Amino acid sequence: MKTKKVPELLYVFLLYFSLCAFVVTCSFLLFFRGIEIPEQQLPNAARATFLNVLFLTALFVTIDAIRRKITVERPVERIKSALSEITKGDFSVRLDTKGSRDDFAEIMESINCMTEELSGVETLRTDFITNVSHELKTPLAVMQNYGIMLQQPDLSEEKRIGYAKAVTDAGRRLADLITNILRLNKLENQQIFPATEEYDLSEQLCQCLLQFETVWEKKNIELETEIDEQIQIRADAELLTLVWNNLLSNAFKFTGCGGTVSVTLTADGKYATVRVRDTGCGMKPEVGAHIFEKFYQGDASHAAQGNGLGLALVKRVVDIMHGEIRVESVCGAGSTFTVILPRDQYGEVEKNL
Ligand code: ADP
Repeated sequence: MKTKKVPELLYVFLLYFSLCAFVVTCSFLLFFRGIEIPEQQLPNAARATFLNVLFLTALFVTIDAIRRKITVERPVERIKSALSEITKGDFSVRLDTKGSRDDFAEIMESINCMTEELSGVETLRTDFITNVSHELKTPLAVMQNYGIMLQQPDLSEEKRIGYAKAVTDAGRRLADLITNILRLNKLENQQIFPATEEYDLSEQLCQCLLQFETVWEKKNIELETEIDEQIQIRADAELLTLVWNNLLSNAFKFTGCGGTVSVTLTADGKYATVRVRDTGCGMKPEVGAHIFEKFYQGDASHAAQGNGLGLALVKRVVDIMHGEIRVESVCGAGSTFTVILPRDQYGEVEKNL
């Protein structure tokens, strides 16, 4: 395609600049009309001027072509080749913009930002796949091992029940993991539109708490509640159940025997505030900084009891509800999770309160 264009461009180039040289020569002659030039020297003077102008024009055009090559064609070529690498899936491409402040440098910087964003997303995606595969493998391996052990002949009744229980537990963990992944995926892709209804948040919190009765009794955890009665809220009850269950399950999970878990609910006209406090292991600041990330688990010793998706789900739901979640924690002393929610996503409940 390029080779076809060259003669055509050359032709236009010659025609255009001959015309320019002719016009400039005529202007010169008109300008020097007042100067006495003998008539017989006039053709020679005109020819010399024309050639001079032609030479100067060619010189400037060449200089301009070099300038164009350096300042336009080269950056365009670099941008084109970077874009072709990105299209092939290489997000490590970065364009050097040092020393240049023109429009091309701005475009290159935007491309650099884009590739940085894309490589971040790519890392998240591969991390996610690695994490999911790892989390799936663990319970599957447990199920396989206990399945093999169950096949042993002459197995005592006690062992048989123990192995079967281990298989069921691993199956439950697997089911929980898959449910959480699907939920998170739905929430992140905004496929869930909150089904808002007006309901009693105090009652919902109490019901969620009751599910943990066996846990707090088994661990001899003292439960303190300060739940204001009949706090009405207009929100998606199912999504909020997820939030309370996750926060409560963590509080009971990370609190040792004989510890305390306290739950408070207060409200003003606009916002409802739920606080879940525990006297458990707490977390270091570097752990606290990551707890809302998918698959993040702070303490390896607790890894067997969760999959690190709970708080990622909580955060997503709170965001969807236009709320806020805060955490305060002291390593070895306990943690407090505070969720602040607007009592009405659409500003209607306040009037009815
Ligand atoms: P999981 O509980 O399955 O590990 P989560 O997303 O619920 O995953 O929590 C992420 C991490 O946050 C936990 O592994 C833990 O390190 C930390 N964490 C959450 N809640 C508490 C709590 N109440 N006390 C101490 N650490 C907590």
